Amino acid sequence: DCLYVGAGMQNNALGKILVENELGGLEFICSIPGCVGGLLRTNAGCFGADTAAVLQKARVMDGNGKIIEVPAAEFAFGYRSSAFPSDWIVLGVYLKYQKASKEQIEAVIRQNAEYRKTHQPQNVRTAGSTFKNPEGYKAWQLIKESGADVLQIGGARMSPHHCNFLVNDGTATAKDIEDLMEAVTKTVKAHSGVDLVSEIKIVGNR
Ligand SMILES: Cc1cc2nc3c(=O)[nH]c(=O)nc-3n(C[C@H](O)[C@H](O)[C@H](O)COP(=O)(O)OP(=O)(O)OC[C@H]3O[C@@H](n4cnc5c(N)ncnc54)[C@H](O)[C@@H]3O)c2cc1C
Repeated sequence: DCLYVGAGMQNNALGKILVENELGGLEFICSIPGCVGGLLRTNAGCFGADTAAVLQKARVMDGNGKIIEVPAAEFAFGYRSSAFPSDWIVLGVYLKYQKASKEQIEAVIRQNAEYRKTHQPQNVRTAGSTFKNPEGYKAWQLIKESGADVLQIGGARMSPHHCNFLVNDGTATAKDIEDLMEAVTKTVKAHSGVDLVSEIKIVGNR
């Protein structure tokens, strides 16, 4: 059973549709900032689920302007990665759901929102998780244990609420942010030998 959602729908607006139609298993999407079309390239996910697990197929415009439907398997999803071609545009997605009650769906959406409120920084300038979790580790734990959680460069620092979230106090330059990411990566490498990899795509120059 699949739900078709247009790429321009905001993820948090999906919640109402899930509740009204009793469509479970897609609640995690509602808490990810952004639009449905943005879920595919990074295989966005949270709370133990990801886009790969719920996507049946996508309606896309390919590099030649042709509209086609492509099965999820063709995107070779990995952890926060995919082989989604850079010149394709997502037009809509077919998402697999399981029937659930309104109450169950509302409860999951509420719990997820509550978790974010209590465990992640709110109303700050951040791009979300800064580094991917290396296999077998949690990025935040490696950062904390290395002492890199207290690093600060200019207006950029790791959030005291969740040290894998880099936050800009409003005065940080792009250089501050990239320098801090580099400093955190080096500190973690020196402490644990683990290489942190950015979850954030950097555009432009420092
Ligand atoms: C506070 C915070 C918390 C976050 N938590 C999470 C989380 O828990 N899990 C997670 O995975 N991410 C998380 N993120 C990151 C972000 O929300 C996700 O990556 C989200 O999917 C981005 O959606 P977007 O619509 O903003 O896409 P964008 O950031 O604009 O784009 C993301 C990528 O998708 C491509 N893209 C966007 N739309 C389309 C389209 N229609 N067709 C083709 N390509 C497209 C872009 O070119 C880009 O490469 C978080 C971010 C913040 C700020």
